[in-house]
Amino acid sequence: MLQDEMRNLYQEVIFDHNRNPRNFHVMENANRIVDGYNPLCGDRLTLYLLIDDNEIIQNASFQGEGCAISTASVSLMTEMIKGKTVKQAEQLFEQFHNITTSHDDEIKLEELGKLAVLAGVRDYPSRVKCATLPWHTMSAAVKNEATTVTTE
Ligand code: ZN
Repeated sequence: MLQDEMRNLYQEVIFDHNRNPRNFHVMENANRIVDGYNPLCGDRLTLYLLIDDNEIIQNASFQGEGCAISTASVSLMTEMIKGKTVKQAEQLFEQFHNITTSHDDEIKLEELGKLAVLAGVRDYPSRVKCATLPWHTMSAAVKNEATTVTTE
């Protein structure tokens, strides 16, 4: 995809997910609840997951307040990880982390679907933590290793 096209799409997706965040609600039957905080920007979120006995993420939702990038990222993430296994979700995080921190054109953005759009954040290094906060929070939640995550 051309750089300009990618940038336009990036702005469109961020705008759309901010105006209308997906899965933005408390989940009463969640079995993982983790808070994420990015002190650099002030983004705060609570991530709710329902993971079944087969390690499948049956449901994902969030609450919180953050900047446009963190809100779009968590909204997209909850959409993408629903129905995936814990392992698949962690693989997505790994790929996402790579595209947000690298300018390697070899990375196949097309394979990542909508997530690739957020790769645009790599042009704004100070915002990378906004985009990755939800993913760090998700990673802690699926591992059941923390109840609070901060990016610092
Ligand atoms: Zn932010």
